[in-house]
Amino acid sequence: MSVSRIVFTPLNYVGWGSLEQLIPEVERFSPKKILVVTDPVLEKIGLVQRVIRPLTEQGYDVYVYSDVVPEPPLEIGEKLVSFTRQGRFDMVIGVGGGSAMDLAKLAAVLAVHEGPAADYLNLTGTKKVHKKGLPKILIPTTSGTGSEVTNISVLSLDTTKDVVTHDYLLADVAIVDPELTVSVPPRVTAATGIDALTHAVEAYVSVNASPTTDGLALQAIRLIARSLRKAVENGNDKQARIDMSNGSYLAGLAFFNAGVAGVHALAYPLGGQFHIPHGESNAVLLPYVMGYIRKSCAKRMADILNALGGNSSYLSEEEDSYRCVEELERIVRDVGIPRTLGGFHIPETALERLTQDAVKQKRLLARSPLPLLEDDIRAIYRAAFDGV
Ligand code: NAD
Repeated sequence: MSVSRIVFTPLNYVGWGSLEQLIPEVERFSPKKILVVTDPVLEKIGLVQRVIRPLTEQGYDVYVYSDVVPEPPLEIGEKLVSFTRQGRFDMVIGVGGGSAMDLAKLAAVLAVHEGPAADYLNLTGTKKVHKKGLPKILIPTTSGTGSEVTNISVLSLDTTKDVVTHDYLLADVAIVDPELTVSVPPRVTAATGIDALTHAVEAYVSVNASPTTDGLALQAIRLIARSLRKAVENGNDKQARIDMSNGSYLAGLAFFNAGVAGVHALAYPLGGQFHIPHGESNAVLLPYVMGYIRKSCAKRMADILNALGGNSSYLSEEEDSYRCVEELERIVRDVGIPRTLGGFHIPETALERLTQDAVKQKRLLARSPLPLLEDDIRAIYRAAFDGV
């Protein structure tokens, strides 16, 4: 009998208007000086001010750090960590997509550690996180990464991505308010939504899946399948935004506890080498990786087909696993994401280097229901390049 280790964020508020919980939650920690980590776009459109105005009105000393860029490189993480150490803050609030939230949790934890952030990276680092750090509240403004409920901070390196991961990186409080996502433009809504779908799909077929994560993942898939297209078509569709927030939150809980696998292992080098947004790298690879592994998890793929609202064949699980891949392809296409590597201007000559970098993602690859070795990875990139 296997035992599942399930970890949840201590406190989550999820729902339209849940941002109102920010002040009472901040009060619990009695901070004197608060660091808000965010990005320039959110500052420009006034979303950050909306979050911090009530804090300043209550007399809190708030400093906004808005130098976060999408898919943040390690150097940006290093700068923020130094800044946080020098600033003597006693709380960090991350407001933004995965990029801002990942840096907020990194800064909150490494503020009380020594040495550069690079020392704490999973693949190449030599040190381990061993202290909890500053209290942190995470407030997502995209429906995608689930970073508000995971213990992971992703950083971009020269050719790939790496993570700092420890349960101390978990938020003390996550506030998931769909209202904050209404301004997300269609292309980002599409990419982040497919990212969330990928989390749920990979968690459901992961070798570490459990009944708890299965429930989270399947409900996430249902919500995303019924609302992602609507949210892309009309960002003001309130119910679609609510479904997407709930879907990405549930998918985050699912993948944090069951893990993601092959899609992410192959997507990281695309992000690292070609700066393709994380959601889009996942989206272009999702049908190809799932197509390659489907026979190893046909029953589970048939379940996913049902959750996606696709037509079951009632003939065989293998047939349904095929239909599931078709359904995934359809949703990626419907939200307007290119379906081949060529659509992202990736040359054929890049395939070998992508393969060599993906092979290094052993932690992710180990969760695939079909072991993915170098030749398998090469074949998947080739299929994604050829579009077959
Ligand atoms: P992002 O945070 O990079 O944001 C993408 C763009 O959307 C940015 O330009 C941002 O300003 C804009 N944006 C965000 N919210 C908006 C809003 N409400 N209105 C208008 N514009 C808005 O994108 P993301 O996909 O959320 O995060 C990607 C990062 O998260 C990557 O680095 C990825 O590797 C990481 N990630 C982390 C985890 C985790 O568990 N920690 C999981 C998956 C991905």
